[in-house]
Amino acid sequence: MKRKITAAVLLEPKSKFNVKTIELEDPRPDEILVKIVATGICHTDLAVANQDMSFPIPSILGHEGAGIVEKVGANVKKVSVGDHVVLAPGSCGVCEECMAGHPSYCLNFFTLNLNGHRPDGSCAYHDGHQEIGGFFFNQSSFATYSLTNESSVIKVPKEVDLALLGPLGCGIQTGAGTILNVAKPQAGDTIAVTGVGPVGLAAIMAAKVVGCAKIIAIDIHDERLAFAKELGATHTINSKHTVEVAQYIRENLAPNGLHHAVDTTAINAVMNELVKAMKKNGTVYTLGVMKAGGKLELDYLPFSLGVTIKSVIEGDSIPDLFIPKLIQLYVDGLFPFDKMIKFYELNQINQAVEDSEKGITLKPIIRMPH
Ligand SMILES: [Zn+2]
Ligand SMILES: [Zn+2]
Repeated sequence: MKRKITAAVLLEPKSKFNVKTIELEDPRPDEILVKIVATGICHTDLAVANQDMSFPIPSILGHEGAGIVEKVGANVKKVSVGDHVVLAPGSCGVCEECMAGHPSYCLNFFTLNLNGHRPDGSCAYHDGHQEIGGFFFNQSSFATYSLTNESSVIKVPKEVDLALLGPLGCGIQTGAGTILNVAKPQAGDTIAVTGVGPVGLAAIMAAKVVGCAKIIAIDIHDERLAFAKELGATHTINSKHTVEVAQYIRENLAPNGLHHAVDTTAINAVMNELVKAMKKNGTVYTLGVMKAGGKLELDYLPFSLGVTIKSVIEGDSIPDLFIPKLIQLYVDGLFPFDKMIKFYELNQINQAVEDSEKGITLKPIIRMPH
């Protein structure tokens, strides 16, 4: 059986999203149909739309979905119809990284999240003329319904507004998880975050949760820096005016250098300032997306003093454990990620993208019509 859904479809590279009716297959025995309530827009959706990152087109993007389980295949045990779920990237559960508790580094990540089809190559979405790519991050949630499987559904409490929660499955867990799961700062540590979009702000909120003494937000927009202060930054640097960031940090904020730094920009000059601002043995975590073929060039001296640079995917979280923790921190008033959110309707998705690219909206969330 096929059902008609409404989806924002990317028909051509670098084009606008097209809201249209699509046919979606019923779930197979191991699949789950989720009625999407709302989906966040993440930088990765835009990177694919602009073809900085490859994914088959035409297709349905969207990978910060939250919704209600509508139908489950016969073999599904993890969730039942009516459960509230946040969708996270798919993982295989049986590879070396999954077995070691690092599903974001699943060795089958590409097949499960970025090939546009089911792992067996079959397609579930059709527009009457042609197949439409789906299963983007195992969800393709810019749509009223999403087909996924057990590895991607994270059950969440029904008391919390489901429409807010989708971004916890990607952008927010990326920033917060880098701090809480990977960097694990000690209370009193000093940390800097470059680029205070949603991912950087999530890192700042998490750094406040664990009691970092100095949390330095670095960006080129004063309004964003002011907002970062609202969410937990103790100091801000506008790197448009203060170009020698490392020197400024050492002279004014951390004479011995920073314990930790998180970069969300993937801009060479920005990352080099961070590397030079680190204390001996400090670590820079990189979360940004660089264009394919991009190269990083850094001063070598810090690396002879024990400085480390490490890239982190999806906050290295186990979403089933980590997303409920973030929700509890939010409920307790310690992780106010809702302050970054602005809602749009599905037919306003292109406006939401434009507002996000211009920096007018930090974290757009698309509400689905039902
Ligand atoms: Zn795996
Ligand atoms: Zn994302």
